Amino acid sequence: MQIYKVGGAVRDRLLGKPVTDIDWVVVGATAEEMLANGFRPVGADFPVFLHPKSGEEYALARTERKSGRGYGGFTFHASPEVTLEEDLIRRDLTINAMAEDDQQNLTDPYHGQRDLEARLLRHVSPAFAEDPLRVLRVARFAARYAALGFTVAPETLGLMRELSESGELEALTAERSWKEISRALMEDQPQVFIEVLRECGALKVLMPEVDALFGVPQPKAHHPEIDTGVHTLSVLEQSALHKQPLTVRWACLLHDLGKGLTPEEEWPRHIAHEHTGLKLIKTVNERFKAPKDCQELALLVGQYHTHGHRALELKPSTLLELLQSLDVYRRPQRFEEFISACEMDARGRKGLELRSYPQADYLRGAATAARSVAVQPLLEKGFKGPELGEAIKRERLKALKAYKEEAST
Ligand code: ATP
Ligand code: MG
Repeated sequence: MQIYKVGGAVRDRLLGKPVTDIDWVVVGATAEEMLANGFRPVGADFPVFLHPKSGEEYALARTERKSGRGYGGFTFHASPEVTLEEDLIRRDLTINAMAEDDQQNLTDPYHGQRDLEARLLRHVSPAFAEDPLRVLRVARFAARYAALGFTVAPETLGLMRELSESGELEALTAERSWKEISRALMEDQPQVFIEVLRECGALKVLMPEVDALFGVPQPKAHHPEIDTGVHTLSVLEQSALHKQPLTVRWACLLHDLGKGLTPEEEWPRHIAHEHTGLKLIKTVNERFKAPKDCQELALLVGQYHTHGHRALELKPSTLLELLQSLDVYRRPQRFEEFISACEMDARGRKGLELRSYPQADYLRGAATAARSVAVQPLLEKGFKGPELGEAIKRERLKALKAYKEEAST
């Protein structure tokens, strides 16, 4: 049997990037031989094995044929006769379809190296269109390598457009989509992921709520960029520049969905978009089965980001409501993520990227004031049950009034 490094490891070595995980392909072997050599099978009918020591993935060279909708609709054919070239041709991009042996001899039948130099994300063969997940993968690679100057080849974008129009994207499972979306959001330029999806018509299918933001104007005084879609991309860009976690990036993407519902007569104002957006955020959250922390933060940021921006002007009672809704007493980390998302929203505006955001420290101070209310003295006074809750709230309100007064002097 011959063993080759394939995919990302070869690509990233040639790009001079650090290689994290290595995928291997094995030519000329049977499953029985792999098992006899101590490899552990990964799935029942999938010819992939884990190395007994390194735990890295070794796949038997295979060909694929499409036999139905979506990803489940594939039949695999793995046998010792399948050649390296036959295995490489089923891969998504030419830059991902190179292999190298232990002497670093490159096998590159589909000109991945040429496309690396040309900075092009190009499909290997028309079979690209057989797996709709590749639309998301290409957009994700575009986000990752945008800084190096990579773009999607026009003919590949054409195939992505056909796939988006064919209805195949709808066959993707929530789990597969979320895996790509979450990885793409964590890239250095996540806004490019959304841009590429939009360009090929996939955004309209996957997240019509986000797609609808493009072409919707906002007041120029607060939003020099005017367009809500452009603003959303800038907020996402800021979230990556500021190394925010996935929860914050997800909230950034969804924070303004309500603006897509504003009747045109009301443009460029968006009264109550924080409220109207909630059901859309919920829908998108559920569509991709986003993790609970992402879901929660997106909803809170959607509902309260304007409160965040107006923090210094809020009445103590409104401030208290905000802190209660965020449950700053038990969820300090989520509170920080909320503040970050608001700050990214404030900076994701044309020409305002470097503005300061005094609201952040003001909110932190308010939370400290509200948290400083001690429960014990109230218990000692005999408060119980709902009355105790009311008493705590009253004390917190007092603390916030004092905080606000002090802050304004
Ligand atoms: P990363 O750095 O994100 O791991 P990668 O290119 O190694 O990038 P993997 O998901 O680890 O991506 O897949 C390894 C290789 O398998 C890819 O380089 C590609 O050749 C092939 N591959 C993975 N998923 C697909 C797919 N859906 N369609 C076609 N080829 C795929
Ligand atoms: Mg990999």
